[in-house]
Amino acid sequence: MLLGDKVCVITGAASPKGIGKNTANLFHQQGAIVAILDLNQQQADEAAASVGERAFGVACDVTDKNSCDNAIAAVVERCGRVDVLINNAGITQPLKTLDITPQNYEQVTDVSLRGMLYMCQAVLPHMQKQQGGSIVNTSSVSAQRGGGIFGGPHYSAAKAGMLGLGKAMAREFGGANIRINSVTPGLILTDITGGKLTDDMKEKILTTIPLNRLGAAEDVANAFLFLASDLSSYMTGATLDVNGGMHIY
Ligand code: NAD
Repeated sequence: MLLGDKVCVITGAASPKGIGKNTANLFHQQGAIVAILDLNQQQADEAAASVGERAFGVACDVTDKNSCDNAIAAVVERCGRVDVLINNAGITQPLKTLDITPQNYEQVTDVSLRGMLYMCQAVLPHMQKQQGGSIVNTSSVSAQRGGGIFGGPHYSAAKAGMLGLGKAMAREFGGANIRINSVTPGLILTDITGGKLTDDMKEKILTTIPLNRLGAAEDVANAFLFLASDLSSYMTGATLDVNGGMHIY
């Protein structure tokens, strides 16, 4: 068991085919107590019920600081601590630069980047008291190669911002034995594209992937497990690519 009795919080984990839900399943199999955070309490509860008896749902909008603080207070009240945070909540929009409205910009950057900051601010004081913890942030290959897959430039910017924020926090909190790393997935088959990713688009993308398949949510969950667990105990400020070789540099 790589996460025996560790209290693990995963944001955006209610989506049935999503990376977060798959991660919740894997972490639970590895012995973790799993808090499934998502916008809707009922959906979070349903996801938790399907994951297992050590999982529970907590309503949380990561763009709202009070909501993040309240969610983590509820986790700590119930479990006494928080060992792992997976910042997974995210949304995307397939827009071109000149079409991005102020509202589009706020929607996309708020969930990924502001949400990451607020969730880290909520868990870090507890991890400092414990003198330990692991935070993993879900960036994207879009941050590294300038989009070009599905999300617009504002999505690339939000995901690139997450890498910078994560590295800066890794420096700041390493002394408290808190590790902060990022994962950069390529194209992973989930519902995030809202059915707008056509078969034609998938075929074209496939020709750019050396491993010759699109990613599965489990591929990213496995990377999260490595970074959440003590297997990666000497890693912080790192970025782990999970992209089938789509971007090699
Ligand atoms: P998904 O749409 O299946 O899941 C995203 C979840 O985030 C949903 O459950 C949604 O309800 C939740 N969410 C949205 N706004 C929220 C908010 N304000 N507060 C709390 N929860 C919120 O998507 P996914 O593909 O599983 O994506 C998970 C993460 O991986 C995202 O950050 C995404 O940007 C990133 N990512 C995905 C891909 C991909 O190809 N699927 C590639 C690179 C990165």
